[in-house]
Amino acid sequence: MTKLRLAIAGFGKIATSRHVPAIAATPNVELVAIADPKAKSPDVPNFASLDALLREGPEIDAVTLCTPPQVRTAQARLALEAGKHVMLEKPPGATVSEIVSLVAVAQAAGKSLFATWHSRFAPAVQPARELLAGRQIKSVSIIWKEDVRVWHPGQTWIFEPGGFGVFDPGINALSILTRILPRPAFVTRAELGVPANRAAPIVVEMDMVDATGLSIRAEFDFRQSGSETWDIRIETDRGPLVLSGGGAKMSDGDKAVVDATKEEYPALYRRFVDLAANGECDVDLAPLQLVADAFLLGRQRTLEAFEF
Ligand code: NAP
Repeated sequence: MTKLRLAIAGFGKIATSRHVPAIAATPNVELVAIADPKAKSPDVPNFASLDALLREGPEIDAVTLCTPPQVRTAQARLALEAGKHVMLEKPPGATVSEIVSLVAVAQAAGKSLFATWHSRFAPAVQPARELLAGRQIKSVSIIWKEDVRVWHPGQTWIFEPGGFGVFDPGINALSILTRILPRPAFVTRAELGVPANRAAPIVVEMDMVDATGLSIRAEFDFRQSGSETWDIRIETDRGPLVLSGGGAKMSDGDKAVVDATKEEYPALYRRFVDLAANGECDVDLAPLQLVADAFLLGRQRTLEAFEF
């Protein structure tokens, strides 16, 4: 099998910390160029924009978009129309409908579009899905709290329209939730706390249910100091199932059943190589729809101004 020649657009925190090592660890894919207005790679040719890379750069087969979500759909369209497979970091874009339209572009081009949800590749997610399939679920509680200054230092785009605010990490929890529950969930209430000088929430509380009335509560908070809390607790007829560490660990009652290193990104690339080989798309919008619905239904309150 020939190697997938790949470019990354948006060479910031996640591209350098996760994508570059994952690409290096994945057979059949190699990084051959990057596009970013400022950031540079010492290892491959650099271009100031994806457009310039596609016009003047080395031959590529695929592009991973690690840019902020607000600019990603236009870049994805450009790449697909240039005949490249496209992998999208999460969240796939700034709106639901723009991603729906992208799928049609990918299909018309006969190219793969992969809307990734890295947290779904955390080691406890598939075991949790399998365990829950055989149990009665009584309630779900999500606590997802981290320090925005640690995980998104100086990233002003995150509090702009389309930047998601605390839903940026919160959508990771929702990507796990929508993978492990046997039925779809929908939003019934949301409270969004938005700093006076910003456009997106820094704290969110939301309630969801499924068709059977299952109660699901989520708390997302970007104001955490110290270590992060990325936990999902599921009460079941056979005791609590607790996913912690963003899905790296799971306990079933008082027994630890998963405790593994989070190797999410190499798995994303293995999946992308497979999708590209078959020209298939993998786009699940369920987590994005829950966030969109929280914005639709939620009550917003103004909080004190936030500075990085
Ligand atoms: P980041 O550090 O701000 O990186 C984004 C990069 O894209 C920056 O270098 C930015 O350059 C560049 N960029 C902006 N507009 C561009 C354009 N039109 N063309 C090419 N490059 C452009 O953000 P990040 O933390 O890597 O996050 C990026 C995405 O990854 C987000 O969707 C986020 O949710 C996701 N993600 C992040 C993390 C995390 O821990 N940070 C974890 C998982 C997933 P400038 O800075 O010069 O604008």
